[in-house]
Amino acid sequence: MPKNLYVFISLQEFEAFLTGKGFSRRVRTPDAREWKFAKFIDGTEYGIVVYSSMDVQDGHQRGYGKDAIRCQLHHHYDTDPLLDLSATRRIRNWQVTLGGKIDLLERLCQSIQACPMCGADMRPIRGQFGKKVLWVCFRRFEKLAPCKGVRYIESELADKLADDWPRS
Ligand SMILES: [Zn+2]
Repeated sequence: MPKNLYVFISLQEFEAFLTGKGFSRRVRTPDAREWKFAKFIDGTEYGIVVYSSMDVQDGHQRGYGKDAIRCQLHHHYDTDPLLDLSATRRIRNWQVTLGGKIDLLERLCQSIQACPMCGADMRPIRGQFGKKVLWVCFRRFEKLAPCKGVRYIESELADKLADDWPRS
């Protein structure tokens, strides 16, 4: 991608955009490279986290043009994200791209419910062949007494999530 397509995003601009979408709690990571913003889903242990490096070291951004904005679904009991959408590049209209990703996770969060079999919380995974995303029980991968509880996600949303969730 040609370098001149990238734009500079200030922390103030980034914060204003996210605050407008209901995000709060700005946290600087311990290595002081990134700013994280979280939006907690009321009455649940889930939250949406958006982060990027902003105004690090007197306004210089790390790897100008290479650095990106991440948008993830988190759960209180897991240090790793449950779902990590593709990076948003810092190009013109980044707000539209990032806003679309936040919308996807918010729509997903509207379907949060406990496991139908055991009542535990659930996590999104890719379905067979990676085609769609669905909810499975947090206890699915337990060695002793794994739970097979599943909840399906509305088809169009499940497809979009799978498309925007890079395979690791
Ligand atoms: Zn379960």
